[in-house]
Amino acid sequence: MKDLDCVLGQEQAVRQLKNALQNKVISHAYLFLGPEGVGKRLTAFSFAAALNCQNPLNGYKPCGKCPACKKIEHDNYPDLHILEPQGQSIKIEQIREMQGKISYKKLEGKYQIVILEDAQKMTVGAANSLLKILEEPPQGTVFILIADNSRLMLPTIISRCQLIRFVALRSEYISRILEYNYGIGKEDAEQISLLSGGSVSQGLQIKESWGENSNWRLPNRILNLVFSGDICDLLRLSGEIEKDPNLTVVLTSLIAWFRDGVVWIKTRSVKLLNATSVDTEKFKPLEEGQENKGEQAIILLNQALRSLKQNANTRLTLDVLFLKLCFLFNPK
Ligand SMILES: [Zn+2]
Repeated sequence: MKDLDCVLGQEQAVRQLKNALQNKVISHAYLFLGPEGVGKRLTAFSFAAALNCQNPLNGYKPCGKCPACKKIEHDNYPDLHILEPQGQSIKIEQIREMQGKISYKKLEGKYQIVILEDAQKMTVGAANSLLKILEEPPQGTVFILIADNSRLMLPTIISRCQLIRFVALRSEYISRILEYNYGIGKEDAEQISLLSGGSVSQGLQIKESWGENSNWRLPNRILNLVFSGDICDLLRLSGEIEKDPNLTVVLTSLIAWFRDGVVWIKTRSVKLLNATSVDTEKFKPLEEGQENKGEQAIILLNQALRSLKQNANTRLTLDVLFLKLCFLFNPK
């Protein structure tokens, strides 16, 4: 059974929750805030299981044997309610339905748990309705709001939750998770982790974009061509990949790489990089010349991503991007 010790790379968040469990000081609402794909959902379910286990080890490790543990593991625990967006948003009807369910007495557990996934996607109506519930929280109910962006949430909701922050994962953790939880080969897992921007879900998308042929490591190939100033090959590549359904993943992973490059040049601290086993020699081209080339490359990549989102001509967008990147690193 999964428990808080299975959550990798989120020491602070896990410590806060273990303390709460061991000291039996449980808030009625938590906001799990942090980037996508870093373990918020796994943490929420592990926490929920620990709250309801009849005999948790060390106060936080669900025993895996009691009825509550068994039912949670098999997804049929009557006091665990999960809300996720229907279509684009979490709607007021969903909040009302959940309110109806939790107004009954607890069926068996110590706590009723409500997990709201993508809580930032609540409609205004849904958010106001939830706020009313949080203002007079029903006894023995714990709300866990999961979100990757708090700017879209009502401040009045945030202020009623205990904030648990989740951070982008270091590449060694991404690599380990990809290898052991998703069966990706060690070498591939390491390569992907360097481009994942600290997110397992981004890493999985990169893997998908590679398809069966993992030698086709597009982001690295693009970087090599850009730095060597090979315009002809870049334009040829642009034609090759314009129909790639994972193009935005490729560009996003390049942003992650340049982000690490900028941080490395400014701080010389490997600790601050998302990609921990990165070869920092590769950041050298970013240091040449006066202007900050890494930051400019990120701006160019973001512009291209925005254009693609607005349905601009893909080939043209890629050509322009590659040319600009090429001139940025090979000024004549
Ligand atoms: Zn148990």
